[in-house]
Amino acid sequence: MNDIFSWMNVGSEKLEIKRLAARTSHSAPRHGCRETCKARAKRALVAEKAFTLLDKNYPKEISFLNVKSDFQLLISVILSARTTDRQVMEVVPALFEKYPNPLALSQGKLQDIMGIIKSVGFYRVKAANIKQTSAKLAEEFASRVPCTIEELITLPGVGRKTANVVVGSLFAKPAVIVDTHFGRVVRRIGLTESKNPHKIENDIALLIPEEKQYRFSMTANLHGREICHSRKPLCTACFLKSLCKKELGNR
Ligand code: SF4
Repeated sequence: MNDIFSWMNVGSEKLEIKRLAARTSHSAPRHGCRETCKARAKRALVAEKAFTLLDKNYPKEISFLNVKSDFQLLISVILSARTTDRQVMEVVPALFEKYPNPLALSQGKLQDIMGIIKSVGFYRVKAANIKQTSAKLAEEFASRVPCTIEELITLPGVGRKTANVVVGSLFAKPAVIVDTHFGRVVRRIGLTESKNPHKIENDIALLIPEEKQYRFSMTANLHGREICHSRKPLCTACFLKSLCKKELGNR
């Protein structure tokens, strides 16, 4: 019985890989491409299993920043670069009370803005960025937060990570959000080998279906914060360990 079932499992895994090869292949097979497509399909199978486990084990609603409007979300995410969310949440109530919309923040004095956010890392640069971004929102976007990555990355202080957070959380668009926690988890389970955020984003976008990318980003990020720590990952408590290259001693 066991042999029959193990044969069936091998067969179904092959079928899964074939199915995923069709989905993740972005060009017709060419000479030398077949192996690459198959390897990518195997990674897609790991990605699919990881998504199922992450989705099952984490709450449906995950929010790292407690904000009340699109504008507040954008500004808070700009402030959160290389800073803890807790530090951001400590300064933003006073910031948004004094400057509740893009026009008000664009007209604020730089020294006053710096004074409010000075406990946040890189506060001088961030103060200038949020003031300039607010001015651009007021002048070019009718004080609304734009809904495309291309438009968002034209705003001062907004990189691809921030832009993906915005399009994923505010506009329910496909979004792969790469930060240090996310990058660590996806590398350890073998979905990418890269440390370059843009390359990681592209690698994961090929493996995870668009409608699942935002949820995958949020849950993998949370997994990195809570279990897959940088120095001492809690591998014995980790529900991804059967997929993990680090846990299996392959790294
Ligand atoms: S088994 Fe350990 S290293 Fe691997 S994903 Fe889980 S916590 Fe991270």
